[in-house]
Parts: sequence; C-alpha cells; structure tokens
Amino acid sequence: MDVADIPGVPEWLPDHLRGEGIEELYPPQVAAVERGVTGGESLVASVPTASGKTLVAAMAMLASVERGGKALYIVPLRALASEKRAEFEEYEAYGVDVGVSTGNYESDGGWLADKDVIVATSEKVDSLVRNDAAWLDDLTCVVADEVHLVDDAERGPTLEVTLAKLRSLNPGLQTVALSATIGNAEELAAWLDADLVDSTWRPIELQKGVHYGDALHLEDGSQTRVPVRNNEDQTAAIVRDTLEDGGSSLVFVNSRRNAEAAARRLATTTADFLAPEERDRLAAVAADIRDVSDTDTSDDLADAVEKGAAFHHAGLARDHRSLVEDAFRERLLKVVSATPTLAAGVNTPSRRVVVRDWRRYDGSVGGMQPLSVLEVHQMMGRAGRPGLDPYGEALLVASSHDELDELFERYVWADPEPVRSKLAAEPALRTHILATVASGFARSRSGLLEFLEGTLYAIQTVERDQLAAVTDRVIDYLDTNGFLDREADGEGVELAATTLGHTVSRLYLDPMSAATILDGLEDAADREDPTALGLYHLVARTPDMYELYLRSGDREEYTMLAYEREEELLGAAPSEFEEAFEDWLSALKTARLLEDWASERDEDEITDTYGVGPGDIRGKVDTAQWLLGAAESLAAELGLGVGPAVREARIRVEHGVESELIDLAGVRGVGRKRARRLFEAGVETRADLREADKSVVLAALRGRAKTAETVLENAGHRDPSMADVDPDEDVSVADPDRAADGDEDQTTADDQSSLGEF
Ligand code: ADP
Repeated sequence: MDVADIPGVPEWLPDHLRGEGIEELYPPQVAAVERGVTGGESLVASVPTASGKTLVAAMAMLASVERGGKALYIVPLRALASEKRAEFEEYEAYGVDVGVSTGNYESDGGWLADKDVIVATSEKVDSLVRNDAAWLDDLTCVVADEVHLVDDAERGPTLEVTLAKLRSLNPGLQTVALSATIGNAEELAAWLDADLVDSTWRPIELQKGVHYGDALHLEDGSQTRVPVRNNEDQTAAIVRDTLEDGGSSLVFVNSRRNAEAAARRLATTTADFLAPEERDRLAAVAADIRDVSDTDTSDDLADAVEKGAAFHHAGLARDHRSLVEDAFRERLLKVVSATPTLAAGVNTPSRRVVVRDWRRYDGSVGGMQPLSVLEVHQMMGRAGRPGLDPYGEALLVASSHDELDELFERYVWADPEPVRSKLAAEPALRTHILATVASGFARSRSGLLEFLEGTLYAIQTVERDQLAAVTDRVIDYLDTNGFLDREADGEGVELAATTLGHTVSRLYLDPMSAATILDGLEDAADREDPTALGLYHLVARTPDMYELYLRSGDREEYTMLAYEREEELLGAAPSEFEEAFEDWLSALKTARLLEDWASERDEDEITDTYGVGPGDIRGKVDTAQWLLGAAESLAAELGLGVGPAVREARIRVEHGVESELIDLAGVRGVGRKRARRLFEAGVETRADLREADKSVVLAALRGRAKTAETVLENAGHRDPSMADVDPDEDVSVADPDRAADGDEDQTTADDQSSLGEF
C-alpha cells in the first residue's frame, strides 16, 4: 500500500513519511489498516521486532486526533518515553501537540489536557487515573507498547489494570496493543475486544543459528566456517568475522559486569578494524562519555569506546546510554555488549546479534535459569538493518555438541511462550485493589470482582473461586491496616477507602510500604531526633525500594552496623535468627548508601564500595526521595511531628549534601560539589549568593565564567555578568586535581533507571 492511500490519516502524513524514506507500508501495517486501525478499530499487532509497529500506532493515533480526539501512548520503560517523544515531536510541525509525562506520581498532569498525543509510562497513567485526571475521559485512542510485558511480574499488573481501567472509564476507547510475536496473541485480542494482526513478516531476512566448534550452524541447515583463533573466544571470533564482512555486532549477556568485561575483551578485536578517521571520532565520543561523570564506569566505557567497542546497561547514566546508542547507529562502534535493556525497544539494529548467555541468575530460585524464548527472540530480532545489511543473523553460542542440539530445540526452532497475567501476585493486587476502590471504580466486593473480570487475569483464570479468594484476602489486609472500610449490607459488602487509604493510593504507595512507613513514623515521633539513616532505613525496608543484595562478608559488616546504630533504626527489629533479618540488613546497606550520598561522599567511591553503577545511585536516590515525600504526607495526615526531620532527610538525599548545604544546593546549576566549594569560600546560603562578591564566586567555581553567570542568575543576583571579573586569589579551592565538574548536573538529572530496568 502506498503511503498516499492510507485512509483517515491527516493530509500531511504521506509527505512526512516519504521524507523519512517510507513510501510503501510494510505488510503487517497494511493488514492493520485493512482491519480499520485508522478508522478507530481496536487492534492487537503481534509482529516481530523492528517490523514497524510504531507506525501502526502512529497511524491510529493521528487518525484519532484528526477526528478530533486525543491519544495516549503507554510505554513500558521511562527510557522509551524519550525515544518515542523524539519520534512523535516531529508531528508538532503539523500542529499536533505532543506531551510526555514520566515525572512525579502525585499530580493530575493538568497541563496534559491540551495535548493531542501523550506519551507516558504505565505507572504514570495508573497514577493519573488515581488522581482523577479529568482529561482521561477525553481519550479516544490508547496504545500499549510491548503489551507482552503484562507477563512481567513487577510491572505487568500495572499495565494490565491500567488498560482495564481506561477501557472501563471509556467504553468506546480504541485500544491498539503492540506485541512481540507471542504464543497467545489471540487471547490478548479477546481480552481487549480487538482484531488481531499476527504476523511473522520481517523487513529483512533473519537467520537464527548456533555457533559451535569452528562453524555457524544455521536454521536452514547450512554451515559456515567461523574458526576460533587461539587467543579469542567464540564471541570474539563471530565479531571478527562480521567485521571482516563490514558489519557490526550486538552481544547480549546476562549481567552488567559481564557486559563490561565483554566490551573490554572485544575492544581488542575491534581496535584492529578502525579507520584513522573513525578513531578520531571515537576519541571525541569517549571524551563526551568522560564528561558525563567521573566514575570508573564512565572511564571503562570511554576506554572501550576509543577502541570501537562499548557496553550498555541500566547502570549507565542516561547520557552514557544515548552516546553509545548514537555511535552504534552511526556504525562508529563495531560492537556493543548489552544486558537485555537494549532489546526492549531501543532501535539499534546490527548485522549480527550474539546471544552469548542464555541463562540468568534468578534470586527467587537461587540459581541460573534459562531465558524465555520470547526474550531470546526479542534480542535476536535486533539482527539485520533494513536497507544496510543483506540479511541479519542471530546466534547462540554452544560449547558442546549436546548444547548445540539443546539450543536448537530450546530457542532456534521453538515458539515463544504464551503471555500470562501476573496480577494474582499479592503486592500487585494489594496496590490495585486499594486504588480501584479509592478512585471509585468499585464500591463493593461484587463491583470489585466485576472490575477484575475486565482483566487478562480473569480471562486466564479457569478457577473462578480463586479470583474471589485472593480478593478477599487482600480486602482483609487493607481493612486490618486501616486503608479500607467494609460494611456488610443486605445485598453484599460495601467498600470504601478511608482517608488514609485515599492518601496511600494517591501517593502511589504499595499499601504494605505505607503500613511499614506509618509504623516507623510513629516510632520516630516518640523520639527526640530521628536521624537520616533511620529514615533511609525505614523507606529502604518497604517493598517499593529495590534493596541492594548482600555480598559475601556483608552479613557480618551490616550486623555490626545494625548493633552500632541500633538506636537510630525505627520500628521493631527482627531477631538475628528470623528470616526477615536478611532483608533488614539489605535495607541497612541501601540506607547506608543513601547516607553516604547525603554526606557528600564521592560518587565513584560509592560505586566502588557498594558494587553498583552511577545509574543505580540515581535510581535509589529517586526512589528514596519519592518515598520520603510520601512519608512527609503521611506524617502530616496523622499529625505526627516528624515532618521536618523527614523533609530534611529527603532534601539531603535529593541533592546529595549535608544539612548546611540544603539551601545552596537548591539553586539551579549548583550541584553538591559546587555548593560545597561556595560554602567553603564563605558563600553559605542562597541569600549570600545573591549578594556575593563575584570574584569569590568565580574563584569557588574554578574560574568558569559561564557557570558562574548561570548560577548567579538563578540565585537572582542583580548583575550576574562576569565580564572583567577575576577570580579572587584568596579563595582556595579544595580538591584541585579533579578535572571535570561533570557530575554536578547529574545530581538533578532526571535519570531513567529507577523503574526496575536491568
Ligand atoms: P518495532 O517497534 O516493530 O520494533 P519500529 O517501529 O521501531 O519497529 O520500526 C523499525 C524501523 O523501521 C524504524 O526505523 C522505522 O522508521 C522503519 N519503518 C517502519 N515502517 C516502515 C516502512 N513501511 N517502510 C520503511 N521503513 C519503515
């Protein structure tokens, strides 16, 4: 189908698409149009990776807007929101207003009311529903990207419930669900009352296979020689072979550490294949990477990038990730070793994909578990760049003949598993049942059960009684903890959220987190001075915070710490012999990381001490900030006098500073390090800064005139210009050999890695 023949879409779209190099629709796109996706019909598109799902969504949304409606695009990860924003913002030139919302949970996003197309994470949409965003009633089209993630134990239930709510709010709503190829697309379509496009078509041929010995064994039965030299492993041999053919490779591994190690090793292979001009450009990318933050991770990444290799995982800062993605797309980087984040929608195709690790450590079973077929196929789907490569090849790596056979059976020839709802898990139901009652979707037990009937879970639960049984258990829990009131009347059981329940739901807390926080706050209110560590430990203990794992030796260390600082810890401590003690200690480790950050400890020292990446610090800080903010609201609600202490702990962790710097660090452009230097130079508050001697400020900011001007301007200085100002020589700047100020801006950066990405 020629792009000029798509019915229902705005007039400008065909020309715009041609400008992007899109003349003809791909077959699955044609099928979607034929099913009426641009006429408002609901659709599930189950199509392989990189086969143009985004355009299916875009056509549906634009057609809906053309008819005077409003569209919502739900992304599974915050990182993807930025990517989609960049894509959809191109429509602004034609008068389509695009808004992206990934920020704070507790607002109704009123500003989104005027937008035509809104991009948001499912968590954000869920919270908008809870906050009663009025404009949700105006939605005419909702897109769920990567809808197979309803299968994800952590984030799946939110997506599932959110879709059910939007559809119940708005019965005529067009639902377009985009999915990887899965085993039960029909079931999803039945759930969403949608038509189905289930296709295995790809824009470029993909051959799957396994490398074993000196050969690639492909699914068509062919074998190609790819010998492994003495000094290399199989992955390096494949990468080298691809380079000899002028292509690049993407290598998927099972942990961040493995990604880093693989990049380091593969850099010795790629280094031999760089043209002088590529070397120069890579050196420039490496310099940009070093500027992002002064951590070991940043250095390691830059070192590899100089040689044409890189790693990619959610422990990286967002800027790191986009620098890597861009350089790979420009074919400057010859190989990227990645955890599966990169497979989840980021558009970075390459000639060959190597799925090096097909098992991953799984804490819940305490051992290695094979990846799902769906996951492996998603990674494999990144192979082959349309228009650039003759074909794509996706390879697993076997070390024995038996493994070769196993991998063919398990992944090459296998079909992806069916997607299963994970809503039955209690933390999920706890949260969503409270929210469903609090936001008035259900006012009785039977109403609740009726609402749950609209979920995939209900469709997939053969045992009707099971749904009711879990629901009753959760209602009990919520009632016991004071979040719900239930009253039996003649007909059945009436349900209403208590004031506290409403607050908890609006704050987007897991009710169990709220119960933990309330208990700790009551304890804190009985004390003189709750400490930051105590409060960090309290929020780190909630199910809403991903705790740090205890490594060998940690148990002893943190048991000691627990005794040393016992006085500060809030709530009743489990005994050393209880199972819960382990969690208590992990939370303490997390709390100490937060305390270190709020005590101005260097970022790279923290990453070393705790064995985490800079992105993890950001993730923990974001979560702590949010939970402490919620704790403040709860303290206010219950009239507990601990609000100010919680607030101070929150602001300290937000900026990564001691209490004395809170005021200064709140000035935009002043991060933790600059605040400290200004303070040492005698500029101690925002008011001081407004009146400050400019030469002192300039000296404290190491002679950076531009920075100094921005900072003074933000503080409200009458005359921020640094023209003709010289740094005051009496100001000594501590820590003079730290060359880069790079991580200053990071303290306020909206990093994306807090939603449980790999
Ligand atoms: P998916 O979401 O299915 O993984 P994308 O929507 O990201 O895949 O599409 C992959 C690439 O294909 C994008 O670069 C997109 O611009 C391009 N593309 C989509 N549809 C067409 C088409 N009909 N013709 C040519 N290129 C297309």
